[in-house]
Amino acid sequence: MNSDTINHMAAAIRAAILAHEADIESLDREIGDGDHYINMKRGCEAITTIAEELAPLSAADALNKIGMKLLSTIGGASGPLFASFFMSVGKTLKATDTTATKDVALAFEAGVQAIMQRGKAQAGEKTMLDVLIPVADTFKQLAEQGKSTKEIATALKLVASEGLESTRNLLATKGRASGLGERAIGHLDAGAKSCEVMIHAVCDQLLAQP
Ligand code: ADP
Ligand code: MG
Repeated sequence: MNSDTINHMAAAIRAAILAHEADIESLDREIGDGDHYINMKRGCEAITTIAEELAPLSAADALNKIGMKLLSTIGGASGPLFASFFMSVGKTLKATDTTATKDVALAFEAGVQAIMQRGKAQAGEKTMLDVLIPVADTFKQLAEQGKSTKEIATALKLVASEGLESTRNLLATKGRASGLGERAIGHLDAGAKSCEVMIHAVCDQLLAQP
């Protein structure tokens, strides 16, 4: 993995987020304040504008820079959370100095832990973490078992979709939807949807490689 791969993944993520505008927008309108799609789009566009600056960097430095850029561009609760994720993934990869699958899995896990710390949230609170935590756990397990990139990508798509679906019947205890009590039940979480869309985009790109 190098910054070229990261720029390709960022482009795939951006295209997928734009393609899911209607879903993401309506979910945050139902149980949030309706700005989540705009926040995601702004973040994706900010990364596009720094593609050339990322090109000469290592994967670790590029991810850290993406995090810093997101911190200064996406508003809302999700901006600092995604920023923490990318800065932490970058920092962790830099420390191991490899991008072997198992190190990427550990860095992904560290990124998810950074979101948990910053947002003071756990699994089961109807947030993006209900997608990210099971994806991180499965990624680490499969990488430790030495599974191939394609096997991992196929499995992570499924786990991300299951995590998203799990938010439907949860009460929200973090973020804006937490004021809604039982009224949030029956709705998917918007941040969980964005994460599912992004994970699918990256995994589809890996699956499409020869
Ligand atoms: P805001 O909530 O400020 O309007 P967004 O609409 O961009 O910001 O993001 C909302 C999403 O952020 C939620 O759908 C949820 O997934 C996620 N989120 C909110 N608070 C937290 C938190 N404390 N921990 C993890 N994720 C959170
Ligand atoms: Mg919102």
